[in-house]
Amino acid sequence: MAYDRNHSHQRIGHERPASADLPHDRSSRSYNRRVQFSTVFFDLDDTLYPSSTGLWLAIKERMNSYIRERLGIPEPEIPALREKYFKEYGTTLRGLEARHSVDPADFLGYVHDLPLDKYLTPDPAQRAAILSLGTRNLIFTNADAGHAGRVLAAMELADCFEAIVDVNAVAPYCKPMPESFQLAMQLAGEPDAGRCMLIDDLPRTTSVARSLGFFTVLWGADHPGDDADAAMKSWQELPRIVHERGG
Ligand SMILES: [Mg+2]
Repeated sequence: MAYDRNHSHQRIGHERPASADLPHDRSSRSYNRRVQFSTVFFDLDDTLYPSSTGLWLAIKERMNSYIRERLGIPEPEIPALREKYFKEYGTTLRGLEARHSVDPADFLGYVHDLPLDKYLTPDPAQRAAILSLGTRNLIFTNADAGHAGRVLAAMELADCFEAIVDVNAVAPYCKPMPESFQLAMQLAGEPDAGRCMLIDDLPRTTSVARSLGFFTVLWGADHPGDDADAAMKSWQELPRIVHERGG
């Protein structure tokens, strides 16, 4: 492919080798012996921060105004258009690229132009839960790495994650396309889906990852149903889910 995937696979926090220490070296360390997962992919929007913050709602409003103002599409037609693209192309962005030749960087820059500190506050319990896992943690998002990095900074979580796999890194795909998960695993240097875990708030996304062999956690739900292996509504539940599965 012509583009450089690595430009979007931003490394954050402390520098560590991308894959040389994984997965066997880490699994042999005593603190991590019972954990069978090497790699946990975290969704960003409406997962890493709660939907009650209103941030994702604000981003979606920005998407609507982009479509209205930049593309001249009348307001009443926008919800159905976005629903159609979400179903057919995975995200509004991929639909706009395919059908309206929208530039992803222009769109993503516009929709994420929001004052994050007005929406997000750090959650020490969430941070402690993530740090206790002993796994490699990556962000896997249909947003771009710039937005993800700003969210992590506002949540004081940047050092909890080794890397961000963003929508540009898996282009031309996006979640929930199976190819996007395969590319994310490749970028993470983990070829075995059975050692990967995904936490995401969308059942259609956990469902596809599950079918590929990931252990999946549906965020914000009481029960996983048929779409995931586990469900959680509090970050304090995460260490138990990981360690029970790993034991
Ligand atoms: Mg989400």
